[in-house]
Amino acid sequence: MSNDFHDYVRRWHAAFPRLRDVRWEEGGWLSNAYCPDCRFCCGPQDSATPFPMPLLPSQYRPGLEEDFYLLDATTPCLDERGCKSCGPQGCRLPRPRRPVACGLFPVVLTQAGLFLYQCCPAALHLPLRDWLELGERIRDWLLTLAPSDRQRLCLPLAAETLAEKYICLHLPVALENA
Ligand code: SF4
Ligand code: SF4
Repeated sequence: MSNDFHDYVRRWHAAFPRLRDVRWEEGGWLSNAYCPDCRFCCGPQDSATPFPMPLLPSQYRPGLEEDFYLLDATTPCLDERGCKSCGPQGCRLPRPRRPVACGLFPVVLTQAGLFLYQCCPAALHLPLRDWLELGERIRDWLLTLAPSDRQRLCLPLAAETLAEKYICLHLPVALENA
């Protein structure tokens, strides 16, 4: 990861020489001006472990397999194939049909609280204090959801993965069984 990390820093510095806007929108969405020219987290992943993207029960619908590769009947995932909904112009799904994780990334919810994926260009370019503030907004929004929904959205990322690829934002989020 350390070599990869340096590669990402060089790659994103060249691709994004100027700071772009990243802001929290009411309704559970991180608006990120880096995404349209990046799409890194929607494309093919370099890990053999599928990245789960749980849906809220209100998002369950027939035909999920047309939009996503699935871990089980109701859980989309991202893997070496990328996301089925990622097209040449980016995500082809309207926001209400996208997994919540798509609207929070590069911040992720885990049992240990909120973490920041460090190889995202927005994560590398914005000061950490901005991410702490955005993390607080995300935590506050997550706390408006039912505890069972928060638990459902929690990603089962291994401690080693978090230590290697993520920055802890020190923002615990109350979960149903925590
Ligand atoms: S890696 Fe970051 S900037 Fe790139 S598409 Fe994902 S969230 Fe957007
Ligand atoms: S649903 Fe859309 S935003 Fe989410 S990973 Fe797939 S292409 Fe990206």
